[in-house]
Amino acid sequence: MRVVFATGNKHKLQEAREIFTGVEILSILDLDKAFDPDEYGKSFLENAVIKAEAARMKSGGLPVLSDDSGLVVPALGGAPGIHSARWGGVNGDHARNRAKLRTDIRNITDRRAHFLCTAVLLDQDGAALVATGRVDGTLIDEERGEGGFGYDPMFIPTGDTRTLAQMSPAEKNALSHRGRAFRHLAAMMARQFPQEEQ
Ligand code: IMP
Repeated sequence: MRVVFATGNKHKLQEAREIFTGVEILSILDLDKAFDPDEYGKSFLENAVIKAEAARMKSGGLPVLSDDSGLVVPALGGAPGIHSARWGGVNGDHARNRAKLRTDIRNITDRRAHFLCTAVLLDQDGAALVATGRVDGTLIDEERGEGGFGYDPMFIPTGDTRTLAQMSPAEKNALSHRGRAFRHLAAMMARQFPQEEQ
């Protein structure tokens, strides 16, 4: 099976290719270099659907995969949430986003946080499969590790002592919000499209 992933984030593309074994994942950027839809939705689901619908116009009939994800800090009222990608003021500037988060949590004692991911697969007819994933953990106000992306160097998953950025890609995928959502979605795809090779 071939799908087009509606993301400009090369880290997410790499993660998807490691998780969806047997599915060929094409990048929307190979079909539309300027792909960057306005994410005006008010939830992860709305934004995932916005990205998937935008990509479906360009996918040449192939099913489209999308995800919207972010970090939720209850002690910050749920922020950065759906604003995670531009929390520091510049979309996709992960270093600025982390610098802002470090300032935000400096005087906060409850450092619990979780990542959420909503993943969507839109088929040729516009029918959608939806899956979600979550990983709980704790934030630190320093950065540890070189792997992953985004807030990974500041996030220690519950039950571990390392940040997500200190884990191998396989270790992160095994417990991450996106890993969980994508595995649910892959199982649904296998049921929905049994005739296709997954
Ligand atoms: P999206 O690409 O619009 O879904 O934005 C997701 C944003 O949430 C990213 O730019 C990161 O700031 C954050 N984020 C989502 N998933 C992860 C992850 O696996 N690790 C670290 N940060 C993440």
